Amino acid sequence: MQDVLVVGAGPVGLCLSLALAQAGVSVTLIETLGDDNFLDQVPRAGTNHPATLEMYDRLGLYPELEKRGFIAPKFQYWDRPTQTMVAEFDHALLGNDTKFPYVLQCERIKIVEVALAVAKQTPLIDLHMRTTLDGFVQHGDRIVATAHTEDGDEVQFTARYIVGTEGARSIVRKELDIEFEGFTYPDRTLNIEVAYDFRSHGYEDRNYISDPVEWSNLFRWIGPPERWRVHFPTDPNDDPDVICSPEALQARMQNFLPNPRDYTILGSNLYTVHQRVAAKFRGGRALLAGDSAHVNSPIGGMGLNSGVHDAINLADKLIAILHEGADEALLDRYDRQRRHIAIQHTQAQTIRNKRALAEKDPEIRKRNQDELRRNAEDPARARAFLRRTSLLDSIAEAESIT
Ligand SMILES: Cc1cc2nc3c(=O)[nH]c(=O)nc-3n(C[C@H](O)[C@H](O)[C@H](O)COP(=O)(O)OP(=O)(O)OC[C@H]3O[C@@H](n4cnc5c(N)ncnc54)[C@H](O)[C@@H]3O)c2cc1C
Repeated sequence: MQDVLVVGAGPVGLCLSLALAQAGVSVTLIETLGDDNFLDQVPRAGTNHPATLEMYDRLGLYPELEKRGFIAPKFQYWDRPTQTMVAEFDHALLGNDTKFPYVLQCERIKIVEVALAVAKQTPLIDLHMRTTLDGFVQHGDRIVATAHTEDGDEVQFTARYIVGTEGARSIVRKELDIEFEGFTYPDRTLNIEVAYDFRSHGYEDRNYISDPVEWSNLFRWIGPPERWRVHFPTDPNDDPDVICSPEALQARMQNFLPNPRDYTILGSNLYTVHQRVAAKFRGGRALLAGDSAHVNSPIGGMGLNSGVHDAINLADKLIAILHEGADEALLDRYDRQRRHIAIQHTQAQTIRNKRALAEKDPEIRKRNQDELRRNAEDPARARAFLRRTSLLDSIAEAESIT
């Protein structure tokens, strides 16, 4: 019997498995995808905040991730109707707060590639690719999980604990019959990937652009290929095929920033944004972490980050229970701490971010922008703002919850 069965080798499952195994806890990690298609996943998240970089560092992942991404110390807020920059924040102000006073732009796909390679070299991780969890039952001192391989063979795994890190459609959460509370935005977000350097227009590597008609986010990514990702809201009534047609994508980009030459569009996708948190993160010997426990809008880059924070928080508690004889009630503290952060920080902040970008009332827009300017101009306020956006405050707040 293994100590922990981790379901899903996304960033959260991999960080959890590595943290556990590095402390001597035996892990079985199962992942639906195989080595042949693992890297075919859509490159989603990519903004890694200082608090998360500290965790990658602890797991030994940071140096390789830094090589695969790039350091982005600054970000900006823009007003689209007037094409002016409202406020700029520089993480350098966090020099005394963290070893990593910047964000690392490094996409999820690179993180899982690097972390999976390390997991494969870690003796205490028993990795099963092409293996999909179907369900599990809990007994007094163990769980028994049933899964199937790509060839259709049924397999069973026995462990003391099971952790669902298999994303928003979590089987573990459904098996526990835990409600995924919250809402889904009716409008989908359009992501367009463009080969064009927006820095020549004064933009930073990360930009949040408010507009009462069509807000936007603009982020730089290094390749291959070097590209910028631009997000726009879409009308829920519009046909996805029309929204994503080459002409419509070109027109949207030209409307965003006129370019005498056509933009080179490298790709696009439409995604639905959910704001949901599981009603509980624990059901007996089963736990939820990452997207299986909470999902949110990507504005602010908090989903992956807060998921990795769940992983490290939970790993420390499982290590204490399994190796130091700590009481299992510690797992309820995990639920209290991380659910509180998911609701009060991640959900609250991402909902606020989207509302502020899309705000239509001129008075409120002005108030929001004045507030951003005041925060950016005063170093003490700017540091407080950055501690919040970089998630350092959320870690400190979780620690204060008993
Ligand atoms: C467009 C977009 C941009 C984003 N940008 C950011 C950002 O900048 N910063 C940020 O912090 N977050 C961002 N996010 C959110 C981020 O991608 C997720 O929060 C993060 O990937 C969650 O990690 P996870 O490990 O919990 O789940 P996932 O990344 O979903 O991984 C789950 C894994 O489990 C596997 N799996 C699924 N079902 C099973 C099963 N039954 N059995 C076995 N394995 C299974 C899957 O194949 C997958 O490998 C973004 C999301 C989107 C859609």
